[in-house]
Amino acid sequence: MHEASIANELANLASQQARLHSPDGTPGRIVAVGVRLGALSSVVAEALEFAWPAASAGTLAAGARLVIEQLPAQAICPSHGPVLLDLRRGLRCPICDRPTPEIIQGEELELDTLELE
Ligand SMILES: [Zn+2]
Repeated sequence: MHEASIANELANLASQQARLHSPDGTPGRIVAVGVRLGALSSVVAEALEFAWPAASAGTLAAGARLVIEQLPAQAICPSHGPVLLDLRRGLRCPICDRPTPEIIQGEELELDTLELE
């Protein structure tokens, strides 16, 4: 499962960050992990949430809440500027149907915030 390995990476990355942010080298437990997830990232939020408890077990993020911020796909239409995409119609302007190859939001898959104890 694709999301399981991504959940593992996020748990490891969160643990690394928690260590970096503890000056005495003994990081507290991670309470919450915030993730930004774009609609074009090919990661399913529900699957990521499902994979999270097992992926975070044994790391500093064990038991932490996973908070997923889902970002809609947004692109630049040559006529209309920034528009929200309707992904059922592909990468096209929802107003005039012109192709919108310039994506400005929706490909995110990143660690955003960490809440430490
Ligand atoms: Zn347009």
